[in-house]
Amino acid sequence: MDTPVLPRTTLRPAISRGERPRGLYDLTLPELEARIVELGFPAYRARQVWSWAYRQLVSDIAGMRNIPAALRDALASEAPLALLEPVRTLSADDGETIKTLYRTGDGHLLETVLMLYPDRATVCVSCQVGCAVGCAFCATGLMGLARNLSAGEMVAQVVGAAREARQRGRELTNIVMMGMGEPLQNYAETMKFIGIIHDPNGLDIGARRITVSTSGIVPKIDALAEEPLQLNLAVSLHAPGDELRSTLVPINRRYPVAVLMEAIDRYIAKTGRRVSFEYALMRGINDSDETARDLADLLRGRLCHVNIIPLNPVDVLPYERPEPAGIERFASILRAAGIPTTVRYSRGLEIDAACGQLRAKELAAAS
Ligand code: SF4
Repeated sequence: MDTPVLPRTTLRPAISRGERPRGLYDLTLPELEARIVELGFPAYRARQVWSWAYRQLVSDIAGMRNIPAALRDALASEAPLALLEPVRTLSADDGETIKTLYRTGDGHLLETVLMLYPDRATVCVSCQVGCAVGCAFCATGLMGLARNLSAGEMVAQVVGAAREARQRGRELTNIVMMGMGEPLQNYAETMKFIGIIHDPNGLDIGARRITVSTSGIVPKIDALAEEPLQLNLAVSLHAPGDELRSTLVPINRRYPVAVLMEAIDRYIAKTGRRVSFEYALMRGINDSDETARDLADLLRGRLCHVNIIPLNPVDVLPYERPEPAGIERFASILRAAGIPTTVRYSRGLEIDAACGQLRAKELAAAS
């Protein structure tokens, strides 16, 4: 179902004088407390503001009713709430998948997908406008990188999804960083974002309900292992050997499979956490029985789980989804080798839910 294009709002420019965007969602609770004290108000007001922003999910600072008008006015001009403007909202899967296209204050488009399941409500967050990794099968990779998103622009996507979920009588439970961009190439803002949504005074999303995905940025996997939060790590593998993986995920030339696996072993040893391997299955590319056996050999003995994701085809790219029988055969070879494996079909095929597809169509229509 296609809802009408939403009217333009009076979105305050998120970026001025070449600075990073900074809004209320960009501030941690201690940062907000410090700012409010600087403005001449008591620190406890920060927790009230935080509660309005993340518990009541208000969309306008004017709606924070127990906050003095002078403080509301100061925050509205210094730390606005509206960092992202919804441009278009599409839903699919009987309303269980809701995709929102947002425009940033400096005019970039990005995508967020809310997926409602019987036992959870998950939002897939974008962390960059475009992506520098350039995976061969990915609509976002075609664009190159325009810029990193700020922590607040990521938080704004989560708050928007939390509002959408609440309108449907649901609460947001899970975060996956599998939208546009490579989270570990925007590391500092990604970790700040996670700290904000994890804060128990606000959205209180448990670390075990937050999944960071990566194409395999080895030094940052090591950095992630040192973080205090027990996050889920998902590694986009897509091929078990260097020759094929370098053509699909070009970062593999810098961090080949063996080097990546050593980093993953260090991560597992340090955290004791199981790692997920994402595997976009493409007909005639990485779906042969031999490839499945090579993948099983690579992963055997590691604390891991494989998610096979039959590809969401992109119009302008030559990659196709295998037939259902081929998908099941690939999965069964892994399972027979003792590798825990799940086939996950992407939600929202009819609304271009693979990351970057809706944005690409919007840009094409506007040009
Ligand atoms: S699949 Fe992920 S890492 Fe690869 S180009 Fe697309 S957004 Fe970037």
